[in-house]
Amino acid sequence: MPKIKALQADHSEFNSFHHTTIVRRALRADDVAIDIKYCGICHSDIAQVEGIDGMFKHPIVPGHEITGIVSAIGTDVEDFKVGDRVGVGCFIDSCGKCRYCLAGQEQFCEQGTVAVFNTPDYDGKITEGGYSQSVVVKAHFVLHIPDSLNLAEAAPLLCAGITTYNPLVRYQIGKGSKVAIIGLGGLGHIAVQFANKLGAEVTVLGHSERKRAEAEKFGATGYEILRDDTDFDRFAGQFDFILNTAAVKLNLDHYLKLLTVNGIFCFVGLTMAAQQFNLFSLFSKQGTITVSNVGGLPMTQAMLNFAAAHQVRPQIEMIGIDDVPTAYQRIIDSDVHYRFVIDMDTLK
Ligand code: ZN
Ligand code: ZN
Repeated sequence: MPKIKALQADHSEFNSFHHTTIVRRALRADDVAIDIKYCGICHSDIAQVEGIDGMFKHPIVPGHEITGIVSAIGTDVEDFKVGDRVGVGCFIDSCGKCRYCLAGQEQFCEQGTVAVFNTPDYDGKITEGGYSQSVVVKAHFVLHIPDSLNLAEAAPLLCAGITTYNPLVRYQIGKGSKVAIIGLGGLGHIAVQFANKLGAEVTVLGHSERKRAEAEKFGATGYEILRDDTDFDRFAGQFDFILNTAAVKLNLDHYLKLLTVNGIFCFVGLTMAAQQFNLFSLFSKQGTITVSNVGGLPMTQAMLNFAAAHQVRPQIEMIGIDDVPTAYQRIIDSDVHYRFVIDMDTLK
């Protein structure tokens, strides 16, 4: 098995990233080998490198927004051929037999899914992600990237895209829906596009005046900065669905005021800090607070097809592999428009 190049963090400091070599498994009958062209940088890459709450183990080769070209297929693979444009997202295996796997909701596998990096695979080896030259993945977990999507721009769809598309579809957002998106960052700028293309009227609840024009460019018809009680009162009862993409502790009682009766407040931006609210804030609206996971394989492919049909395009800033530590710091400092994507040809 040939060694390939990769970028690895040895401990929680960003300056511990260094070039290394790793070994991918030999191709199994149901595997697809992929030359990685691009990999997006997601907030959860950073969380794992930082080793939040000791949940994660070092060393780590991160990366779960992978796009590339098929370089080889196993003998049983029928859905892919060499040269196909493909993507790999958050996970690369599951039991395939439990009720959730059978329903195409592999993210909830009762045996536990195998994440694309920093998780024990079924053979016991710790998985290594997309900051590398190639990857070998069971065909069931590989996605087709439609021709009309740019391969670099498609990378963030594999995590940020499915994370935001899944709740919008699950809660049947469409024509007539009034949606508010909290935060216009990596997740938010894609959520606005999906909600708009699904037919909803979208308002961004942001915190910086300089993003107003960009929110409109992504398809928002409103952009509001809500600071005090009066601001929140002004929009009371206006939104059927609020999607929170900001990974911060919120004054939930304020935001719940904005819901219509039976409205839904959904978190996709997650933080370790506990979120608190008063039950009566929900009682008055009979509202729902929920959290959304990523999607299973069928939903992820549907998301890619929808993005291609409606030209949902993540706005990316391309970087080289050695820019990763700086990019991590810039994400922490909220200095990214809107998603970093690593050009993997720079990994020499
Ligand atoms: Zn992610
Ligand atoms: Zn399963």
